[in-house]
Amino acid sequence: MATPHFVVNAPASAGGKAEAWGKRAEEAYGEITEKLDLRPRQKIPLYLYFQHRDFREAAGVRPHDLVVGQSHYADGRIELDVSGLFANAKRTLRHEIVHSVLALGLGPRIGTLPTWFNEGLAQVAGQPDDPAAEERVREARGAGALPELRQLADRFPRGEESGVAYAASYSAVAYFVELFGWEGVQRLLDRMRQGDSYSTAFRKATGIDSEEFAQGWRSTLVRRGLLEWIQLFYFPATGLMMIWAMWMAYQRVRNRHRHIEEEDEPRDDSADEDEPPDIVEPDDELDYHSGLRPNTE
Ligand SMILES: [Zn+2]
Repeated sequence: MATPHFVVNAPASAGGKAEAWGKRAEEAYGEITEKLDLRPRQKIPLYLYFQHRDFREAAGVRPHDLVVGQSHYADGRIELDVSGLFANAKRTLRHEIVHSVLALGLGPRIGTLPTWFNEGLAQVAGQPDDPAAEERVREARGAGALPELRQLADRFPRGEESGVAYAASYSAVAYFVELFGWEGVQRLLDRMRQGDSYSTAFRKATGIDSEEFAQGWRSTLVRRGLLEWIQLFYFPATGLMMIWAMWMAYQRVRNRHRHIEEEDEPRDDSADEDEPPDIVEPDDELDYHSGLRPNTE
């Protein structure tokens, strides 16, 4: 089955489900190519597997690896586990389409794109905001386990560390988009499409070096971390002091108001019988009500 930008391959038993996935893929493709301003000429072969085991066998994934999607640089082919057993397949589809569009759109230059940038784009362009990733980066930084971006240029670590690698990639690309916008991403990819290597394209598209950017990203994390500490310890204290100051001011106004009333129209003694007398703190009286002392005589 073919859609405008995909050749969808699914078992005959999939029936209308394959068509539904083709539609989802087209929607995602439209948004992603718009964001990246990259439009590959060839169609993307999309292989759908409705059983996790079928996917594993076809994609050559080992039983213990929790992989649910895969894309290939050479032809942009995507293999996707749509069983929904381990992950949200719609999300994975978007992620893999970004990889595929980058591979087909950039051609051989894709080889110079660092893995962190490729994986970061797949996450940021393919998925909505991911606060969990930023949280993970924060934790890793706190534990001194946050890798440098240049350590994530080639292969990603496996196991527990791979989670941090993905989170760092997400955070760094989100920061790139924050600094240079999607126009910055588009400029960079366009330069690469025209034949520049990643590092040359980076400089031309942003005006800074990629290493300079990496340092900027790290120091922003440090600054944000410091700000959080300040917010944690400084703001609650300030907040409490402000509440206390407002309460004191309210008390003063209240006392003053009462005192004015008392001066203007002396109270009827009989009305006072049921109410306890106002207690005015001596300090308050001295400091703020010196001209408005209640007539106690
Ligand atoms: Zn990926």
